[in-house]
Amino acid sequence: MARYTEAKCRICRREAGKLFLKGDRCFTDKCAYERRPYAPGMHGRARKKMSDYAVQLREKQKVRRMYGILEAQFHDYFVEADRQHGVTGTNLLRLLELRLDNVIYRMGFTNSRNQARQLVRHGVFVLNGHKVTVPSLQLKPGDTITVREKNRKIPVIMEAQEVIARRGLPAWLEVDGANFKGTVKDRPVREDIQFPISESLIVELYSK
Ligand code: SF4
Repeated sequence: MARYTEAKCRICRREAGKLFLKGDRCFTDKCAYERRPYAPGMHGRARKKMSDYAVQLREKQKVRRMYGILEAQFHDYFVEADRQHGVTGTNLLRLLELRLDNVIYRMGFTNSRNQARQLVRHGVFVLNGHKVTVPSLQLKPGDTITVREKNRKIPVIMEAQEVIARRGLPAWLEVDGANFKGTVKDRPVREDIQFPISESLIVELYSK
């Protein structure tokens, strides 16, 4: 499967915002965007006036890269969000949040969504009692994720509780650290998604 190979911190700097792609480092003063909050390259500091279209496009790219999703799949998420009842932008974010790889990351079992994808593909997790290897699976309230017994010694998995203590656990998730188990309690609402995202810009872009 295609993937991004550009250095992660450069992606944040290009998108002019923190995308939290590097685990704990993103929460420290070692964060490259905190140190150099301008685009990479020779002209990175130059002030550019962006058109409305460019602003919308950048916001879409930012969210797409934050969740590590390729263009076509991201568009499919928008189509599905638009088809659902409710506010399209919120539906879109909810679909992204309920991806298996994102839920595992949010539960603290990995340092990044990318790492979650890798571990899912290696069969480290069990969903409702069945081994899963598809990171894009959509979860729903009541779903439980468990780390397979033979994989519980993986350092990042063992540190999950500390990670949650540092990062915080969203209200729509529950984690039973002693049993390496997490549960989706509810569907996330807009207030649960704290990242700086202007989803209305993405809706405007795709609605043209
Ligand atoms: Fe982005 Fe900062 Fe994390 Fe690098 S450390 S991926 S710049 S948030």
